[in-house]
Amino acid sequence: MDLQGFQPCFYCFEYNKVATDYPINNAMYNREKFTPRCFLHWQYECSKCGKMTHFNGIAWCSDCKEFTCLFCADEKMVRKEFLIYDYYYEIPCHKCNNLNSALDFAEYNGEHPFQIGNLQPEEEIVVWMPIYKKEIEPQEFPHKASGFERVCSLGRPVDFKKLDSLEEYDPKSVWDALAPSWAPVFGIGGDFHHKNLILPHVFKMINAQQDERILDVACGEGNVARNLAKSGAKITGIDVSKMVDFAIEREKKDKLGITYLKLYAEELMSKFGSNSFDKVVCNMALMDIEDCKTTIENISNVLKEKGIFVFSITHPAYAWPACTTLRVPKDSQRNEDKLRVVIDYFDERPTLIHYGLEAPILQFQRPISSYLNELVKNNLILLEMIEPKASEELIEKFPRDAYMEYDRFPDILVVKTIKRSDF
Ligand SMILES: [Zn+2]
Ligand SMILES: [Zn+2]
Ligand SMILES: [Zn+2]
Repeated sequence: MDLQGFQPCFYCFEYNKVATDYPINNAMYNREKFTPRCFLHWQYECSKCGKMTHFNGIAWCSDCKEFTCLFCADEKMVRKEFLIYDYYYEIPCHKCNNLNSALDFAEYNGEHPFQIGNLQPEEEIVVWMPIYKKEIEPQEFPHKASGFERVCSLGRPVDFKKLDSLEEYDPKSVWDALAPSWAPVFGIGGDFHHKNLILPHVFKMINAQQDERILDVACGEGNVARNLAKSGAKITGIDVSKMVDFAIEREKKDKLGITYLKLYAEELMSKFGSNSFDKVVCNMALMDIEDCKTTIENISNVLKEKGIFVFSITHPAYAWPACTTLRVPKDSQRNEDKLRVVIDYFDERPTLIHYGLEAPILQFQRPISSYLNELVKNNLILLEMIEPKASEELIEKFPRDAYMEYDRFPDILVVKTIKRSDF
């Protein structure tokens, strides 16, 4: 890197994107980091504690000619959209106690000590005068986007989009589009996750027995149903997408006595009635189902007393869509260069995720508590919960999938419950 030449200040550069007349100053500080900053956007010395503080955490009192940092006084938050932000701090002056806005908003408001002539910059910088505020472009995602996008720009994030409505996409059409490429993967037992991290736990928890009536909700192309049928249990699989067409075709060829139906999980009660099944399994599907509440309610209703319900989902806290994965550098093939970044654990809007397949995947983010509370509400008692961790064996066999990855955080949550008989 040429440390002598011009390097744009990160803040000047970001502000310039929204305020077209904003001058871009040379970054004198933090030049080797990913947020190089100019003198104006560096740090200021608090007149009380003497410490240097980032310009967004310190305020100037033009009456007392003093700086006060937010470590020396109790700041207040003011919600207002300006530049790339949607709030700023007001900090009481340590001398007169009057509230002054932190220097980010002060600059926007034309009250920065360099703008009003209270102080002279010690380095050569062009100071913006906000006389053309009308020309500032409104920001769709204020400060939220700027921090997150900045971090994501370091690496290779997965392409995703939060949807405000399901007008364009719905779970059925998404799975219809994915069926031709996904069905063959499950035809041979599933991908790495299903084979090694999910299904061994699901099968153990369900513990299918001869003649038991077991319902497979959102059975897809029948991988789970076929495995359970080998025990002699009577399996019914339901699914709405074209995935189930593959299951029906396969059953015609290799008869295991499985009944497949094209049915929404929300329609279970009207189809089967209460106390119809000994066990219900729902493998890697609840996070793809729009109405999870009705689905769990229906599952509980069709289940006999003391019946078992087992489900697996992508981990609500550590997997998509709560988190994204970054690789820094983008093209690194080593897992220590992969990071998980939380997007928004509480954002329950549907998320469209492009993994580079034929069609995007549609997922519904829900906090762990909303799954658990739904179980409680429907008389399903928690018996066991597993967050699969990659074993040494698995790491030996699949280092690129498992090492410094699934031995560090869970990608999956597997839950076993029993229906109460005393309510
Ligand atoms: Zn700057
Ligand atoms: Zn201070
Ligand atoms: Zn003051």
